[in-house]
Amino acid sequence: MVSTGVPGVGATTVTGEAVEQVGGWTHRNYGNVMLEIAKEEGLVERRDQIRRLDPEQQKRIQRVAGRTLAEEGRSANVVVDTHCTINTPKGYLCGLPEWILKELEPDVILLVEADPEEVLARRTGDASRARDEQSAAEISEHQEVNRMAALSYAALTGATVKIIQNHDGGLEEAVGDTVALLSE
Ligand code: AMP
Ligand code: MG
Repeated sequence: MVSTGVPGVGATTVTGEAVEQVGGWTHRNYGNVMLEIAKEEGLVERRDQIRRLDPEQQKRIQRVAGRTLAEEGRSANVVVDTHCTINTPKGYLCGLPEWILKELEPDVILLVEADPEEVLARRTGDASRARDEQSAAEISEHQEVNRMAALSYAALTGATVKIIQNHDGGLEEAVGDTVALLSE
């Protein structure tokens, strides 16, 4: 399974809690794998610098990370925590281009969503990250673009696309929905 959501929506939290409850799944973060590679090469120090690298560099690192995670997925049930699209200074970069999908072969693509205003407030409250300063309208656009990207990935792989809402006060419900998805 692949789990996604715009930065700050809580996709990692929802996925992590669901994986903990279900058992038998490994939760792996695509950004962590990319960060290790990019750090080793001396390109970045922090995760929020990756999307500001030249797109060609991002895609090269993305490919190596994809291989690593696909390899792990062959011997374990892995939930890959990643993004449908990455909002780079040069535009949206696809998180799962065809050559990555071919290796990962996801059966389910999960989109965790919330109202743009909720995402905005969560970003403002998270001092641990260097999130982009975006308006609610821009967050809304990103979520729409992610839906379109997810459906394109589904068309290429036959994966299903599940949209789960993670509204304020609704974390438990979102985790429950994700648990159900992982338990199928
Ligand atoms: P995250 O902690 O999930 O926000 O991931 C940190 C960073 O890793 C993101 O801001 C992206 O720059 C990068 N990243 C994560 N997944 C992908 C992917 N599938 N393709 C390209 N970059 C990614
Ligand atoms: Mg995340």
